Amino acid sequence: MIQVRSLSKSFGKIEAVKDVSFNIEKGEIFGILGPNGAGKSTIVNILNTLLRADSGDVVIDGINTRDDGKKIKLIMGVVPQEISLYEELTAYENLMFWGGLYRIPKAELKENALKTLDFVDLLNRKDDRINTFSGGMKRRINIACSLLHKPRILILDEPTVGVDPQNRNHIFEVIGRLNDGGMTIIYTTHYLEEAERFCDTISIIDMGRIIARGTLKELRKISDAKDLITVKLAGSDCDTVERIKSENPSVVYDIHTNTIKVECDNIVRDIPAIINRIQNSGGVIERIHTRGTSLESIYLKLTGKELRD
Ligand code: ADP
Ligand code: MG
Repeated sequence: MIQVRSLSKSFGKIEAVKDVSFNIEKGEIFGILGPNGAGKSTIVNILNTLLRADSGDVVIDGINTRDDGKKIKLIMGVVPQEISLYEELTAYENLMFWGGLYRIPKAELKENALKTLDFVDLLNRKDDRINTFSGGMKRRINIACSLLHKPRILILDEPTVGVDPQNRNHIFEVIGRLNDGGMTIIYTTHYLEEAERFCDTISIIDMGRIIARGTLKELRKISDAKDLITVKLAGSDCDTVERIKSENPSVVYDIHTNTIKVECDNIVRDIPAIINRIQNSGGVIERIHTRGTSLESIYLKLTGKELRD
């Protein structure tokens, strides 16, 4: 449905996007994951024709975005990173304003405004001014604004930044429902757990380049990233550690914190064996910590950097 070919874009000396290519299938949730400044918004803004690429092409439903930006705007909804709403207007008035830009006939727009407000579960707040809304509720109105012209593709650029957990879940739920209805979704984030949670395919970008791409399973394979089990022992116990190490040489022991770190392929499968081994060697376990958020280990492995807020 969407083909992106060798996209590049610089701002002066900053190469924001370098030779980026990917395909998105119809009905997919496509995740673009990367830290701040990686180039996510630049890619997204080229897709929605807000920015022009220096080189490369974007073809959506057979239309090159360079040829017919207007048509692209009609099939695409965009939830920008920055919330763009009029604080003094009510939720409903905002929708009528933004929908008006799409030249939707008034009667149809009114109907769509009410429907989308209902869809994001804010119909009961329709006549309240935006300046009385929480950050998360504003986000939901922002999403509603992007749906008024019934797009087939929806781009959400970091829609959960600054949103409380309850609203965050609400946004996930809305995205899930849209996708169930057949909508293709492009979702950018710097939160690993979000990409991991619902993206079918993930592209990891760093400094303007795609450094890895695939399903979570494929990314695991590419990076050879391992899960990590950390066990804190009740006391310093070198004998136990020696015994465990003799069976599993990859174990790392930190004598200062009495912790054992074991890399493994599958936490669920390997954790009972490790616990047994420690206990059979006479070790007393104080605490166990696991890092199964494999995307995090994948990112670390691929870039050598941690992905932080
Ligand atoms: P992300 O969305 O992943 O945080 P951006 O696409 O916003 O990243 O930015 C990528 C790089 O391009 C950054 O170094 C940013 O400072 C730069 N950049 C983005 N937009 C502009 C602009 N309009 N003018 C100059 N530099 C920009
Ligand atoms: Mg951005």
